[in-house]
Amino acid sequence: MVPESIANRAGEGLRAAVIGVGYLGRFHAQKYARMEGVKLVAVADSQYERAMRVAGELGVEAVRDYTDLLAKVDLVSVVTPTHTHYSVAAACLSAGVHVLVEKPMTMTLEEADGLIALADKLDRVLQVGHIKRFHPAVNALESRGLLLRPHFIEAHRFAPFKNRALDVDVVLDLMIHDVDLILHFVDSKVTEIEAVGAPVVTGHVDMANARIRFENGCTATVSASRVAKEATRRMWIYQDNELIELDFIRNGVVLTRRGAGVREMDGIQVPVIEETSLPVIPHDSLEAEIHSFCQAVRKISPVRVSGRDGRQALDVVMTIRRRIAESGLGGAS
Ligand code: NAD
Repeated sequence: MVPESIANRAGEGLRAAVIGVGYLGRFHAQKYARMEGVKLVAVADSQYERAMRVAGELGVEAVRDYTDLLAKVDLVSVVTPTHTHYSVAAACLSAGVHVLVEKPMTMTLEEADGLIALADKLDRVLQVGHIKRFHPAVNALESRGLLLRPHFIEAHRFAPFKNRALDVDVVLDLMIHDVDLILHFVDSKVTEIEAVGAPVVTGHVDMANARIRFENGCTATVSASRVAKEATRRMWIYQDNELIELDFIRNGVVLTRRGAGVREMDGIQVPVIEETSLPVIPHDSLEAEIHSFCQAVRKISPVRVSGRDGRQALDVVMTIRRRIAESGLGGAS
């Protein structure tokens, strides 16, 4: 049964829960607990001790079986392992609960279609946790309307090895972040994808490189590794007469353009090059993502990262994984 509408309980705020409070879910729970106009009602985890620990920290109810809390909430974050996203999110939507599901949205496109159809049918918000859309550097770029028509984008996301998300390859774990951002920035149909990748330590693909071509002529190359010496998260966007460089670790956005006049370099006249660093206002991306989800549930603003966006990113990364497998170099994926 679909629960009482939020409008009927005006003034009481949104009732939230987090399903899956492992590494990331605990942070989701902390954000809801501190958010104005929201009451974190409960956290659920099939490992009950985890639910108890986080619930104890935040002074809320702990449950083992998430279906026990669905009648008590308006919205949930689903932060369970990816292979469970479909079943958990589908049960929540069917109970009339709005869902923020972590990335990757689901394991298959059929499952993604199933969630989108359910959310549409029941008029529930379905948001996907592509958190980089809420990154301060992306905000700085988008709020100034500086992105015009990219011709070429290059993205590097390199991370030192960690004992996390080793059940999936680097494409589903890390590369998907840049794929989602690039699809958002280019906003054109993908026409061709080439990719290579290799297992290095886990038996799954640990480093990958993909070239994505778009109908409007833009090309993007994306590289991701989880066996790097140092963390690097950068993107270069080339458009007419301009290079935009984003640094997701240092919160930097630098514009490089041709300035007025010329200068001498090694005895010849070369154009003056202007580099401008944009002011980036630091903020917590997860808090911004969850706030945006709540605003969509309140119908104050549209969903920033919809189920269809999540499906599109999944479609591209699935093709990247297939291309790697076809290349015969990728090992198990
Ligand atoms: P994790 O293993 O640390 O936590 C998952 C938790 O879910 C565990 O505590 C587990 O017991 C619980 N769980 C499993 N099945 C359950 C069920 N049916 N009901 C209730 N609880 C259940 O994993 P994690 O690293 O926190 O990742 C969780 C999800 O978040 C993954 O999909 C991952 O891809 C995603 N993630 C996204 C980002 C990001 O940048 N957006 C970062 C990390 C993880």
